[in-house]
Amino acid sequence: MPETVQRTMQRHSQWLLSIVLPVVLIAVILTADVIEGPKTAYVGVLSAIPLLSAVFGTPRSTAFISVVTWISAFTFGHLASDGNVRAQTVRLVIIAIFGVIAIIAAYVRTRRESQLASAMTQAAQAEAMRQQANTDLLTGLLNRRGVIEKLELHNAARSTVAVIDVDRFKAVNDQYGHIVGDEIIRAVGSRISGGVSRDDVVGRWGGDEFVVVLDLGIDQGTSVIERVFNQVSAQPLATSIGDIPVAISVGVSEWVDGEPLDSVLARADAALYSAKDSGRNQFVVATAA
Ligand code: GH3
Ligand code: MG
Repeated sequence: MPETVQRTMQRHSQWLLSIVLPVVLIAVILTADVIEGPKTAYVGVLSAIPLLSAVFGTPRSTAFISVVTWISAFTFGHLASDGNVRAQTVRLVIIAIFGVIAIIAAYVRTRRESQLASAMTQAAQAEAMRQQANTDLLTGLLNRRGVIEKLELHNAARSTVAVIDVDRFKAVNDQYGHIVGDEIIRAVGSRISGGVSRDDVVGRWGGDEFVVVLDLGIDQGTSVIERVFNQVSAQPLATSIGDIPVAISVGVSEWVDGEPLDSVLARADAALYSAKDSGRNQFVVATAA
């Protein structure tokens, strides 16, 4: 069924059940009382019972309560009412109609609730999938796609971008094996993210390369990157085969408002390569754009 038709039907049924029905109920009780005297008051009260069940219960429990209500009214009519068979028939029909309405109301309510629940589950699943697609499995940081997506919303007037690459990492892999290499990548990622604030963007760009974006101008940003640089390489990293020292090279660049990400990354990359060329284990700040 098209969504607009479904929404219109939902609006109509809501209006019917929440406004028309209570007003009709009031009219029925009062009219019956006027015509037949106070002995009919139970009709109105009993009619309301299945509706109460419809508010809280399932269609099945509401159907059960509707039947119990109807049988009670039938029995009461025989035992205690005025013996007017025609009037008693009318009363039982009214109670039966309200029972059926209550079952429909319970069905509409539970259906709407389950639609809402499944929409929420779908939204949560979509969000989980999006997060998974944006997360690097090894480090738990953002991956390249995650960094790019996050930076699409980036609108700080001035920021600092750093590209960080582990020095001679191939040799680490060759000497200690890939598993220890993975542990080192994970530990470097964790030291980098531990050295900046939660609002800063930290991601694994690929291989042994990381990207950091700080919402700080180049002077303050460089101080933070210098601190991160020292934190990563000052102490050896703990691995399953013992502590292993690592060094990193860093290229830093200012990101001015409106500049494309590719352009600032190219500048930071050039600074990184000059750090590598100058003997590694250092950081180089790119000249302004
Ligand atoms: P440089 O100082 O010039 O950066 O030298 P390098 O040896 O670190 O060279 P480069 O950065 O180009 O090499 C990165 C290496 O990282 C290449 C690849 O074997 C290794 N690598 C990439 N991804 C992974 C990974 O997920 N796990 C492990 N263990 N190694 C990886
Ligand atoms: Mg490297």
